Amino acid sequence: MAKKYCYLFSEGNANMRELLGGKGANLAEMTGMGLPVPQGFTISTEACTQYYEDGRQINPDIMAEINEYIGKMEEITGKKFGDHENPLLVSVRSGARASMPGMMDTILNLGLNEEVVEVIAEKSNNPRWAWDCYRRFIQMYSDVVMEVGKKYFEELIDEMKAKKGVTQDVDLDADDLKELAAQFKAEYKEKIGTDFPSDPKEQLMGAVQAVFRSWDNPRANVYRRDNDIPYSWGTAVNVQSMAFGNMGDDCGTGVAFTRDPATGEKKLMGEFLTNAQGEDVVAGVRTPMPIAQMAEKFPAAFEKFQNVCKTLEDHYRDMQDMEFTVEHGELFMLQTRNGKRTAQAALKIACDLVDEGMRTEEEAVAMIDPRNLDTLLHPQFDAKALKAATPVGKGLGASPGAACGKVVFTADDAVAWHEKGEKVVLVRLETSPEDITGMKASQGILTVRGGMTSHAAVVARGMGTCCVSGCGDIKMDEANKKFELAGKTYTEGDYISIDGSTGNIYDGVIPTVDATIAGEFGRIMAWADKYRVLKVRTNADTPADAKKARELGAEGIGLCRTEHMFFEPDRIGAFREMICSDTVEEREAALAKIEPMQQADFEALYEALEGCPVTIRFLDPPLHEFVPTEEADIKALADTQGKSVETIKNIIASLHEFNPMMGHRGCRLAVTYPEIAIMQTKAVIKAAIAVSKKHPDWNIVPEIMIPLVGEIKELKYVKNFVVETADAVIKEAGVDLKYEVGTMIEIPRAALTADEIAKEAEFFCFGTNDLTQMTFGFSRDDAGKFLDAYYDAKIFENDPFAKLDQTGVGKLMDMAVKMGKEVRPEMHIGICGEHGGDPSSVEFCHKLGLTYVSCSPFRVPIARLAAAQAAIASK
Ligand code: PEP
Ligand code: MG
Repeated sequence: MAKKYCYLFSEGNANMRELLGGKGANLAEMTGMGLPVPQGFTISTEACTQYYEDGRQINPDIMAEINEYIGKMEEITGKKFGDHENPLLVSVRSGARASMPGMMDTILNLGLNEEVVEVIAEKSNNPRWAWDCYRRFIQMYSDVVMEVGKKYFEELIDEMKAKKGVTQDVDLDADDLKELAAQFKAEYKEKIGTDFPSDPKEQLMGAVQAVFRSWDNPRANVYRRDNDIPYSWGTAVNVQSMAFGNMGDDCGTGVAFTRDPATGEKKLMGEFLTNAQGEDVVAGVRTPMPIAQMAEKFPAAFEKFQNVCKTLEDHYRDMQDMEFTVEHGELFMLQTRNGKRTAQAALKIACDLVDEGMRTEEEAVAMIDPRNLDTLLHPQFDAKALKAATPVGKGLGASPGAACGKVVFTADDAVAWHEKGEKVVLVRLETSPEDITGMKASQGILTVRGGMTSHAAVVARGMGTCCVSGCGDIKMDEANKKFELAGKTYTEGDYISIDGSTGNIYDGVIPTVDATIAGEFGRIMAWADKYRVLKVRTNADTPADAKKARELGAEGIGLCRTEHMFFEPDRIGAFREMICSDTVEEREAALAKIEPMQQADFEALYEALEGCPVTIRFLDPPLHEFVPTEEADIKALADTQGKSVETIKNIIASLHEFNPMMGHRGCRLAVTYPEIAIMQTKAVIKAAIAVSKKHPDWNIVPEIMIPLVGEIKELKYVKNFVVETADAVIKEAGVDLKYEVGTMIEIPRAALTADEIAKEAEFFCFGTNDLTQMTFGFSRDDAGKFLDAYYDAKIFENDPFAKLDQTGVGKLMDMAVKMGKEVRPEMHIGICGEHGGDPSSVEFCHKLGLTYVSCSPFRVPIARLAAAQAAIASK
């Protein structure tokens, strides 16, 4: 049997969302519930995918089926397309599985032409209404289907209003509107070159095609990427018989929510306009009245509407967002859906629904979008001000939150301005460890280069500071402290606003509002913890970050990047001495300075974690990242080491590598300089012993993690130094301390030989930043430059550094888990790449059976919720 592409509203239901889209499935459900829905049919999402498969064409079979369903609709309504007695007019609306504001929305009054408009004018005895419908139709069709552009038509309306000396559209009479319709058609012909289509079926096919086409417009593509909606889903099209809100003062149209979408409060919220059609409410042409006033205007319809609201909320067991029309006092429902809401409202509504006995705790947990929690944990832009603002550029939303401040170009300036009480945004080509104090002093960080796992992104996320990275459109002139974006030159002190969630950059000041965590947050989190299986740890390098993460519910540290402990100005010196040593003795002398600092840091981490596990990863990055670049710093280093500036410069030059990410880093550092691993082992074990002594009730088992292992012998070689050193320290202290030595799985070869590796590694932790980098062969610092081209070409839908590539990288992980556990069934396996805080990646980790995910502190609640949702979904 041929595939079915069209469904009458009476043929569907709410469970058919995948096929009918959200709008279509709910129209069908409301029809089934006996609610007053103008009837029609839905063209399925499969017709949309077929349209793309057929080279962006509606094939003859689908066209024939659409025509057949128009026939059915004509039978049901008793009206006919183009008829001179009883003409059928329809609305055409897009409706994907998930609601998508980036797409085409609505065309109203389709089916009108020069003759039909006269028929309805006469029949209704309301020519003003008839011509109003016609001019609206031409306007919407031209804009949405033919992309002529709204503004030409709005200019014509404004001219007409000026000519008639009126200010409101409703003050234009039938003749004015008739004249406008003629002007619109002339405008259409001038822009498109052909007459405005008069055949309703041709109009409909054009509109359907426009909906399908809108699935692939740039706005929709960006929205999908930001909201994890696959391109393959496609959109459905709903063809619905018109109900008219613009037939006179006993008509109207409105939108309403069953609860307040901003606060979650249980009360009917919404807006209503008399003698109007849907888009008037949204477009702001006239100021709508609060929904409560509908009670006075249309008492009977309002009462019915209130009943419908209750019925729908009880039925869907969630807050509903509805559109409706009143035609001559009679209520028609045009749409219902679970309403979009702020994170705050989402938490309150979920808790209230549990208290009202409408939802179980598990369902409440599943209702919250984990990504929205970000807005509760970071400052946000004032919603009104944001709405009025237009971005001047876009980078990657690398660390969420909003920031507004004066532009500064160096970390030192950031600190100096901050000390003067100024709020600043640090704008850099890219950041390096030297910038850390400046980053801390800034409201936000904006970089020209770098991806989601670049230094700026990782560090900013750790600090919870807003960051937009990789905005390649910025023409940076760091030397002269200025940059150019969207035709404007910004100099030091100019105001800029950035949004680390969307990556948008705005000129000037957009006020921010601070984060507030409401009481419901704790309740939902407690439920999440009850149902999740995955543990959630954090990536934290400082006691402050660790403390924050504990407050947000982290159950351990999954990754302490020990090199990050040397970013502070009073530490970096000793670290540079270590790097710029040219004998073992010199290096050991520098390491001796570092050891007590590391030990103190580790003690503070163990204290902050109160006996929870702490994984400490040994030195990993390419060392050149830490060497001084400023002349004064080079001189200072030379002086401390008793070397010439020339010698230091030569050492720095010798550290240069062509591919530092694949160069002398990770365990390779420990292989060449075992003294580094030895020092770090001493610091870890001594710290654990000291803190255990203070807290005998804590069971501290140090976890030492060797990075970038690809070959079992590498691990064995380094592990020998670790074990020898640790055992000696423990013996000398005369204590009984257990410790584990494990490895990161972040090189494809480690995953491929995980059974071998597991013979030595007591635990695994997936470093999916490097694993992604090396599996794709994409530099994590440079991928931002070409990813946009990959999105445009539909090669990628997402940034693989943000959302785990389950097909490729995931396969390596799956293999490694299975092979590792075969050798060492009791081993714990985690993930500490940036994916550990991404909801869909967390779900994947749950399915793989990992022990924990580890993410930056502010993502801990997101991971807890996502882990619970994964567990609940797989029940
Ligand atoms: C990783 O590679 O995923 C990881 C966590 O380590 P880093 O980002 O420090 O290389
Ligand atoms: Mg790594």
